[in-house]
Amino acid sequence: MKNIFVLFLSLVFISCQFETEEVLIISNTNIIDLETGDISKCDILIRDSVIALVSEANSIPTYANKNIDGTGYYLIPGLWDMHVHIQDSTYLSMFLDYGITGVRDMGGCVNVPTDGCESVCPEFLNRWKVAIAEGKMNGPQLYISGTQLSGTGWPTSFSVSTKEEVEYAFQQNIRDQVDFIKVYEKIPWESYQEIARLAKLHDLDFVGHVSKPFLLSDILDLGQKSIEHIREPILYSFTKDSKELENFMIADHYTIEDREFVKPWINDAENVIESFKRNEAWFTPTMAVQYARQRYNDKNWINHPFRHKLPNSVTDGLYSHIDAMKANKDKIGDMLWWMALTKLVKRFSEEKIGILAGSDAVCQGGIPGYSLHEELFLMVEEAGLSPLEAIQTATINPCSYFGLKKNGKVHEEYYADLVLLKENPLENIRNTLSIKAVIKYGKIVQLN
Ligand SMILES: [Zn+2]
Repeated sequence: MKNIFVLFLSLVFISCQFETEEVLIISNTNIIDLETGDISKCDILIRDSVIALVSEANSIPTYANKNIDGTGYYLIPGLWDMHVHIQDSTYLSMFLDYGITGVRDMGGCVNVPTDGCESVCPEFLNRWKVAIAEGKMNGPQLYISGTQLSGTGWPTSFSVSTKEEVEYAFQQNIRDQVDFIKVYEKIPWESYQEIARLAKLHDLDFVGHVSKPFLLSDILDLGQKSIEHIREPILYSFTKDSKELENFMIADHYTIEDREFVKPWINDAENVIESFKRNEAWFTPTMAVQYARQRYNDKNWINHPFRHKLPNSVTDGLYSHIDAMKANKDKIGDMLWWMALTKLVKRFSEEKIGILAGSDAVCQGGIPGYSLHEELFLMVEEAGLSPLEAIQTATINPCSYFGLKKNGKVHEEYYADLVLLKENPLENIRNTLSIKAVIKYGKIVQLN
């Protein structure tokens, strides 16, 4: 709080400017401090894109059309989805509708939207990113990885079987002005080392999956900044008894040869935990996309009203997924996987390893925007995090990950990327969906 004199001068100044300036006031609202969970009743004044003043409730004069009455509501910073695949510009406004004001796009390079786990090629993402930053287009702040690097030989990624191919992939991605490099799977160790070297040289983070058969700790020691999904290397590292392991391998349809791969990972949990801490690496569990495997009978999810906003090619893909899920005989295996995932997320949280909320939409039927809320619900209801801990993974943590000094808090001089909620999300995580208003760079983009 400012002292009285400074506050008085500020208010006189502000009142004089109200008529001509781009200002917005949210009065008498509950601001949630997401570091502590403390709630304080305040007015806030937004000027242009920034929170100019936070002061005692009912202290800032209100003006018609420039005021939102926040009485009884709760204000949090805008949410981030740290693992998405944007394939169509329609997704951008869907994110904002659900209070997501920043996303990390995890790349690919497809020309036509599909239901897959890949993004549109970087030239489009870059165009949207610039237009959003210049205020010419509505959408969340974008961080993009461009075309991913892979040893799998997928046509939508750069093959990196040799050092020369790694060099080429970097050249192309740098030409495309990407923000970071995404690695996929089956990357040879020599190529992995070259990726780490070039990433350092070009001051780019590299993030992504884990290539078999390397130890997760070795990959983290190379400098991979975030690990995406709970896939086999992580899960098996935390597996202690052989029966549990056997069940996982059945669930994963492992062949006898495949089983050789997993041997180095088994029972490596303490090493994994230590290497995450040592390298200050981040973990994006993407629980929502794993949970989707069990949702073939969930009509509310399948018929979610936002699905009609998605391109037909995406929706058609969902129905073929659902058929495949219904046909999957190994539902018990899926359930075992799911139970192990929830325990892992809890353990990572207890160990204070940085967790990032990421939905992986539109992969496996995810819905841009909405699925991020589901990710938070699953963290609380299935993994046992507190609502505060879950919301931190979508606010404070992403901003700390990107080193953003003016995002992720409701605080003076911070960007006014805000979500006003009708109900307290710390009491019930599902209240993150009770959206009254979404504000991006000081402008109301959604008001219910
Ligand atoms: Zn993904």
